[in-house]
Amino acid sequence: MGVMIDDQHHSSAPDRFPLTVIVGPSGVGKGTVLKRLVQLYPQIDLSVSATTRPPRDGEINGIHYHFLSREAFEEAIAAGDFLEWATVHGDHFYGTLRTTVENAQQKGRAPVLEIDLDGARQVRKAMPQALFIFIAPPSWEELEKRLRGRGSETDAQIERRLLTARTEMAAQDEFNHVIVNDEVDDTVSQLAHIMQLA
Ligand code: ADP
Ligand code: 5GP
Repeated sequence: MGVMIDDQHHSSAPDRFPLTVIVGPSGVGKGTVLKRLVQLYPQIDLSVSATTRPPRDGEINGIHYHFLSREAFEEAIAAGDFLEWATVHGDHFYGTLRTTVENAQQKGRAPVLEIDLDGARQVRKAMPQALFIFIAPPSWEELEKRLRGRGSETDAQIERRLLTARTEMAAQDEFNHVIVNDEVDDTVSQLAHIMQLA
């Protein structure tokens, strides 16, 4: 699959909605909260990332991710197509294509990235005016419970994610806002308020 990139224009157009970057440990509930936010606020454009990981059952290319081969991903890196990219959980490559954010902004929609800490740090360097939000669990025990309860990872993958979570939790101060995801509805309304959607 070719990655169609028009790299001739850069972001000189004024942002109608600032870019919002959401980070939080695996299992904290980012996917759950963002799904609800998108249902409530259709102006949100949840960024579709590129990844080298294989699709899970039911995942559709172009909807959940742009599934790329390692070669295609590396070509896109070399071409400067990514706003940010990182190796996540020591495994596969994940990245945000510049065009994804540019297209959302050109359509007057609110681009939202759900990415890892490395990626968020890269976005902050490139776009310090973006809004950086950290989603934290009510407790470490609750995070572990949610991660295990989801049942989508092996024990080894869960351990790896909990290890990554320690680094992520230690970086909360780098963010403009920290929201504790206790009740989904509360988290969604706090997000909507911070993003000035409501
Ligand atoms: P993430 O996208 O951050 O990895 P998910 O959205 O997949 O996390 O949520 C992980 C698990 O926790 C899911 O089983 C989800 O139903 C559950 N969950 C999410 N938010 C909450 C919450 N506020 N309270 C209790 N359980 C939650
Ligand atoms: P999953 O494989 O479970 O879909 O995603 C694992 C993690 O990869 C997500 O929780 C998210 O933090 C991270 N991720 C997804 N897309 C991107 C991306 O485009 N860039 C970066 N840096 N991380 C991403």
